[in-house]
Amino acid sequence: MTGIAQALRQAAEQLRTSDTPQLDAEVLLMHVLGKPRSYLHAWPETQLDTQQLAAFKTLVDQRASGQPVAYLTGKREFWSLDLDVNANTLIPRPDTELLVEQALEKLPADRPLHILDAGTGSGAIALALANERPHWTVFASDRSLPSLAVARNNAIRLKLDNVYFFAADWCRAMASHMFDALISNPPYIAEQDSHLGEGDVRFEPRSALAAGADGLDDLRRLTGEASRILRPGAQILLEHGFEQAEDVSRLLENNRFTDIGSARDLAGHERVSYARKPA
Ligand code: GLN
Repeated sequence: MTGIAQALRQAAEQLRTSDTPQLDAEVLLMHVLGKPRSYLHAWPETQLDTQQLAAFKTLVDQRASGQPVAYLTGKREFWSLDLDVNANTLIPRPDTELLVEQALEKLPADRPLHILDAGTGSGAIALALANERPHWTVFASDRSLPSLAVARNNAIRLKLDNVYFFAADWCRAMASHMFDALISNPPYIAEQDSHLGEGDVRFEPRSALAAGADGLDDLRRLTGEASRILRPGAQILLEHGFEQAEDVSRLLENNRFTDIGSARDLAGHERVSYARKPA
């Protein structure tokens, strides 16, 4: 017989090479039991039945082999929204909340704006904005049909009906002068970056992470294509690598954007750059 506390102890030991063994073990057991963390701590002696124990062991083994916790539970929280994720979508990062924060700060809340989240993945950015700003109409695109299916399901489950999903290769084939803002967390890691071979990132879609020799291929395309689909005076906000702010600012400048600036993430790195299309 194995109790909750004992199962967690053994799992944390097995997961000791993770950065967060205890947390991983707790999240996986919460998932198996369908209970909140408070339950695990309130009932440490409660025995797991054979099925629960077997399910937990399978998940812990998978985690021990490197699988991200978010793919094992199929869930990740972003901007206080519970999102479904799977191996077709990037796992939303806390850093990307800065992009949402900046968009909310820079765009008028009460006007019926048309906003584009290009490369939406699980829908994280689009859904956070749609939830915060019921007066906005949020459009969310992705080239990956499986990721659009995940994003659309998230919208339905969260009952957000001011967001529309469509397949697109960045801005190609979109109508001109459609949007008051373009927001994107594109792939921006250099193809040879050793980071791509480490930890959770190994299991995420390469197409959502890597972007050419210098990591700027998709940012080049986006900054080049954006102006055509944006209305005069529209805002563009882009997430990028912690050393790419200067490059992205230059790309924005070369494409005649004005009022260019950058904002810092929780670690103090310039992580989001923004600009305006001249009115
Ligand atoms: N910030 C992510 C990472 O470093 C990458 C996300 C992205 O490429 N948009 O893993």
